[in-house]
Amino acid sequence: MRVDQQVCIVGGGLVGLAAAITLAHQGRKVTLLEASSLEAQDPQALDARSLALSYSTIQILRSLGLWNQLQSMAAPIKHIHVSSAGFFGVTRLDASDLKLEAMGYVIEYHLLLKILLRHAQQHSAIDIITMAQVDAVEAQGEQLELHYQLHEQPQTRNFNLVVVADGANSPLRQKLGISVDTLDYQQSALVANIKLAQDGNGWAYERFTDDGPLALLPLPGQRYALVWTHAAEHIDQRMALSDQALLQQLHDAFGYRLGEFIEIGTRARFDLKLTRASRLVAGRCVLIGNAANSLHPVAGQGFNLALRDIAQLYDSLLDVDLTSAAGTDQLLDYQRLRQADQQQTVGYGHGLVSLFSNDLPVLNHLRAGALAALDLLPALKREVSWQGMGYGAGCSSLMRGVD
Ligand SMILES: Cc1cc2nc3c(=O)[nH]c(=O)nc-3n(C[C@H](O)[C@H](O)[C@H](O)COP(=O)(O)OP(=O)(O)OC[C@H]3O[C@@H](n4cnc5c(N)ncnc54)[C@H](O)[C@@H]3O)c2cc1C
Repeated sequence: MRVDQQVCIVGGGLVGLAAAITLAHQGRKVTLLEASSLEAQDPQALDARSLALSYSTIQILRSLGLWNQLQSMAAPIKHIHVSSAGFFGVTRLDASDLKLEAMGYVIEYHLLLKILLRHAQQHSAIDIITMAQVDAVEAQGEQLELHYQLHEQPQTRNFNLVVVADGANSPLRQKLGISVDTLDYQQSALVANIKLAQDGNGWAYERFTDDGPLALLPLPGQRYALVWTHAAEHIDQRMALSDQALLQQLHDAFGYRLGEFIEIGTRARFDLKLTRASRLVAGRCVLIGNAANSLHPVAGQGFNLALRDIAQLYDSLLDVDLTSAAGTDQLLDYQRLRQADQQQTVGYGHGLVSLFSNDLPVLNHLRAGALAALDLLPALKREVSWQGMGYGAGCSSLMRGVD
C-alpha cells in the first residue's frame, strides 16, 4: 500500500469519480480536478438518463464497498426480451438460467453520480478540486507537470500519474497528441422515464424498430427508463410531441407487453457518435471512460466498459512504485490487456447498430431469424449473457466482487 505517490484524475464525471475511489482504495493519494462546480446542480437540469449496470459492474462496486448503498436505489434486471418490430423472432434471457438473482441492475444517472461523489468527498485520500479547468500536461523526468486554471487563476502541480477522464471531447487527449476515430451515427437518443400502470417484474426490453433501437429498462417504483434511438431527421419532431402523443407512438412501436404507459417525465436528447482513441496511454497519462471510448447506448456498455478498465488499472498498478520507470511499463501492459475487451465491446455495440438500423427486407428477415434461433440455443444464450454481463474477456480481481 502506498499513500505517498500522487495521482491526478482529470474530470469528475461517473468515470473520473469511480477511478478516484478505486485508486484511493489501493492506497494512492488522489487529487481530482473538475472543471464544473459539481455541487451546484439544478435539480431540474439533472440528467434524465439511467444506466444498466452489468453484473461485473455490480461486483466491482461491491469490491469497492459501494454496492450496499446503491442497491436500494436500483432495480434488478431478471429477464431480457429482445425483439424486432413487425417480425416474430424473439430472444429471452433469464437470470435464473445462470443461477443468478439478476443479470444486472438499472439506476438513475444522477443517483449514481451523487453516491460516487459523496463517497469520494468522504474519502480521506481523495482531494476534489472543482472549478479547475486543466489546460495542459508536460513530462518532467519521472513526474508530470499539470497546468490548470482554478477560478480562472493559473496553477501548476506535479503528479506521478494522470488519469484523463475528461469526456468524449477530451481537451487533454488532444493536448497529448492522441488522435481519435469518430463515427457520427446520424442518430439521436430520446431519453425519459415512463410511469406504468403495473409492475414490470424485472423485464428489460430491447426492441428494434423502424426508427432505431428502443430500450425500456426497469426502475424502482413501477417506472421504466426509455432510450429510444431516432434518425437525426426525426428526433426534433418526436421531441416536440405532447406527452400523450409520444406515449401513443411508444405504444405503437412497443406494444402493450408492459401494460399501459401512464406518464412520461422530462425528455432529454443525446446525439450519438462513436469515438475511439487511437491509444490509451501517453507516458504517465492514461485515458479512461468516454475520453478513451464513447459508445452508442444501444448495448448499455459505456460505463460498464470503463469500470472494467478501471478494475484492470487497479490490478496493473498494484504495488507498483509510480515514481519509477515501472509505472510507465505497467501502463503499457494495461493498454495491452484491455485491447480484447474494448474491441469486443465496441464491435458488439457497433454491430448491433449497423444490423438493426437498416431496413433492407432481407436483413429484417435475417435478424428476426437470428433472434428466434438464439432463443432455441441455451448454450449460446448463456455465452451471450456472460458477454453482456462483462465477463467475455477475462476477470480482474475487483470483478470477483469480494468485499
Ligand atoms: C442515452 C445514454 C444512455 C446510456 N446508457 C448506459 C448504460 O445503460 N450503461 C452504461 O454502462 N453506459 C451507458 N451510457 C454511457 C455512460 O453514460 C458514459 O459511459 C459515462 O457517463 C461516461 O462518463 P465520463 O466520466 O467518461 O464522461 P463525462 O460524463 O463526459 O465526464 C467528463 C467530466 O470531465 C470534466 N472536464 C472536461 N474537460 C475538463 C478539463 N479540461 N478539466 C477538468 N475537467 C474537465 C467535465 O466537466 C465532466 O464532468 C449511456 C450514455 C447515454 C448518452
